[in-house]
Order: sequence, then C-alpha cells, then structure tokens
Amino acid sequence: MTQALQSLIDMTRALGEPARDYVIIGEGNTSMRRDDASFFIKASGHQMQGIDETGFVAVRFAPMLAMLDEPPKTLTEQKAITESAILPPNALGGTEGGLAPSPSIEVSFHAMLLQECAARYIGHTHPTVVNQLMCSEFAADFAFKRRFPDEVVLCGPCSALAPYADPGLPLALVMRDSVRAYMAEQGEAPKLILLENHGMIALGDTPSEILNITAMAVKAARIYLGALMTGKPTCLPEDDVQHLYKRPDEIYRRQRFVAK
Ligand SMILES: [Zn+2]
Repeated sequence: MTQALQSLIDMTRALGEPARDYVIIGEGNTSMRRDDASFFIKASGHQMQGIDETGFVAVRFAPMLAMLDEPPKTLTEQKAITESAILPPNALGGTEGGLAPSPSIEVSFHAMLLQECAARYIGHTHPTVVNQLMCSEFAADFAFKRRFPDEVVLCGPCSALAPYADPGLPLALVMRDSVRAYMAEQGEAPKLILLENHGMIALGDTPSEILNITAMAVKAARIYLGALMTGKPTCLPEDDVQHLYKRPDEIYRRQRFVAK
C-alpha cells in the first residue's frame, strides 16, 4: 500500500471517530487524487470509523466526467459506465487478485470536484450540528455569510451551497452548477460546500486541511445555533471578510495549518 493511500485512510478514520459526531454507521465518504487519470474513493458499504485499505477503490476520471457531460438515460447504463471506470484491486498497491469493491454512490461528485476544483483530498460528512442548519430556513444565511475571523481563514470568504438533489448523479450535476457559479464570482474554488438537507464537503490539498475545515464548519454551526437562541445571529461585514481572507498574516497562518 502506498503512503498516499495511508494518508487517505488516516484522514477517513479521523473524520469517522464517533466523538466528533460527523458521521454514524455508513454515512459519509472521502477521496484523494491518485494521478492525472484516476482517484481513490471510499467503497460502498464501508464505515469510515476504523476503515482500512479494503474499504477503498481506485476509479478512472474519464468515464465519470463523460457521464456528467452526457448523463445516461437509465440507471443500468449509469451502473455499467461506473463499473467500467473501476481499476483492478492491485491499483491500491497490493498484488491480490479478485474483484474490486464498488465505489460510493457519490463517486460522480468526487470525480467532478477533484477535477473542477483541482482539489487533492475531499471529505464528505453529515455532522449533526451542520445538518441542524442545512435542514432549516437558515441554510443560505449560514452558507453565504461569516460570523468570526477564523471561520473566514479556514473555510473561505463564503461557502458554495447546493440545493437538495437525489444522491448520485443528480446531486453531482446540481453541485457542479453551484461550484461553477462560486468560482465565477470568487475567482477560486470553494473550500467548503454545504448541501441542503444533506451535509457538507471539505476540499483541500492535505488531510489536515480537510480536518481543519470540517472542524471549523462544525464550530461555526454551533455558534450560529447558539446565537439563534439569543435572537438573530450577526455577521461580519463583507469588507471585513475580504480583508481577513486576503491579509498576509492570515494567509501565512492558513498555510501553516495545512502544511502537513
Ligand atoms: Zn452524504
């Protein structure tokens, strides 16, 4: 097994630790760019807690991205394309034969985000406190504004927000629209994508960045919910958000946090 795959396993286990309350049972999935042509993704039916290399599968980008550009008319066709994209188990670094497991149902959005956002790692979770907001009328306010400086530094000047869609290809398609709109407006990829009535996605270059963004999004959700109990949450003015995000000392701090 490669060191890179081990880093994905360690990140996935950390996100799956029960004390963090980011996921339970089979919730959530992670991925990592393997090379220009393929990526590793969590296999379907595996729990993030305590996962090992048997819980990952290597998948080629090209068939998955082609499917987003020309969505198949039937689920059978979609399944056949996904199966054709799976690399044999020895792509994980081992030598064993046999059939590769199936990738997570969310394989299409992982392929799309790794490519569109040039991310190296992705962590998708369903933290209870984040979903308390994603399943409420406050989802957009939480996503598009910021409340405190470290939320800006770690999670970016705002989040992308994807409306609810059926998990799988429909979700990947609405998420692609949200991400493209975000990039057109902000001039860079989002660090945090929030999914209405579903959960959140952290994007980054290192496992530390994924863990930091997820932890900060959870803290921001707790603060928002606490502020709601006292009245209406107040937000940082947009000028302050942009100033914080572009301050050289904050950029330095951000780079120190993720340089692992
Ligand atoms: Zn999910």
